Amino acid sequence: MAFSNNGSIGFTDEQAELLEIAQRFAREKSPVDKVRALIDDETGHDPAVWHELAELGWLAIAVPEEFGGVGLSLAEVVPVVEQMGRALMGGPFVSTTIAAQGLLQGGTEAQKAALLPDLCAGVPAAVALTESHGDWDVTRIECTATRDGDDFVLSGTKVLVSDAAAAAWLLVSVTLEGAPAVVIVPKDRLGPDALTREVVIDETRRSFKVSLDGVRVGADQVLSAAPATRTLAHIDLVSALLLAAEMCGGTASCIDYTVEYLKTRKQFGKLIGSYQAVKHPAVDALVAYEQARSHVYAAAHSFGEQGEGEIATRMAKAQAATAMSFAADRAIQFHGGFGFTYDCDAQLYRRRAFWGDSRHGDAAYQRRKLADLMF
Ligand SMILES: Cc1cc2nc3c(=O)[nH]c(=O)nc-3n(C[C@H](O)[C@H](O)[C@H](O)COP(=O)(O)OP(=O)(O)OC[C@H]3O[C@@H](n4cnc5c(N)ncnc54)[C@H](O)[C@@H]3O)c2cc1C
Repeated sequence: MAFSNNGSIGFTDEQAELLEIAQRFAREKSPVDKVRALIDDETGHDPAVWHELAELGWLAIAVPEEFGGVGLSLAEVVPVVEQMGRALMGGPFVSTTIAAQGLLQGGTEAQKAALLPDLCAGVPAAVALTESHGDWDVTRIECTATRDGDDFVLSGTKVLVSDAAAAAWLLVSVTLEGAPAVVIVPKDRLGPDALTREVVIDETRRSFKVSLDGVRVGADQVLSAAPATRTLAHIDLVSALLLAAEMCGGTASCIDYTVEYLKTRKQFGKLIGSYQAVKHPAVDALVAYEQARSHVYAAAHSFGEQGEGEIATRMAKAQAATAMSFAADRAIQFHGGFGFTYDCDAQLYRRRAFWGDSRHGDAAYQRRKLADLMF
């Protein structure tokens, strides 16, 4: 989304094109019966679709051309993630994009040159920040890296690491000599039992506990081109933006799914969508979605133009979580007794909303941060 000379807001040409292609792709590749089938699959995603994504160049969108990328920005990644969210798509696209952006922010030229071309070609990556204390403050780090000769030996455990099993390498936050640091951990450095799959509310996700005890990394795997606190803050905001985009897309399809039911289900001889007690909240859900989408694309614009836009990003995350939670909650209610069952898709959206809201700070947390930033 961009602001034109006459003050109106619209999508850029790149965004509009990607929106159309991504919407078609996600709808075709991720119909809801496939989403449900992949819940029972250990990997949680279709490798053939992942390869197609890579071939389409979507992993490369916001990576500079010198590292094998397309050289656009996160403003052009947002439409893709939004449409994936709309189709409840699983897989490591968001994790890999976040890892790429973390590496771009804090990595040395050598680190970027070593990892980004493969990533653009379809090698997944992930970030490991969260610890069992559950604090959303990314600088509260209890995992450590201790110098041992020329290397560093890691210790501690990360939790809620999305897509750790699929990733070829992880960006991991640690405390190194008393200060935050971010290190690259190639998957083959982890012990054989280092990953434990977690049961999480959103069954379309793959989340892991990752033990770092005894993992050895070289000094050249420490991100050193920018202060780690800045890299971590950037990763946090990129994550918030992409989660917001994903929830925004999810809200749209949740509303579509629900409205379709309101237009077909009859009670007391009338379509239930004709009752004010139902149609007014349905409109509230749509208004909240429109607000969220405006915030998401304003934040995408800030990221593209200014490199971050913390206020816009936090607003987007807060509003997208609020909109999706409300739409999904009403979806359950409006489906009546069926809404309480596993067969009703409303639960897929409600679970996604819980997950998206809880990662990288829920709506209340974002609004507290906004108060500090704005007042
Ligand atoms: C946990 C659970 C246990 C249950 N146990 C039993 C049981 O033991 N025995 C049994 O017989 N049934 C049971 N039910 C079914 C329950 O009685 C029905 O789900 C309930 O009466 C709603 O009917 P419905 O599912 O057909 O929804 P609908 O009547 O189709 O309602 C769908 C939506 O439309 C709204 N709506 C419908 N009519 C109007 C209106 N006139 N004005 C405004 N809004 C309206 C509803 O509020 C709801 O949001 C159970 C349901 C649940 C969730």
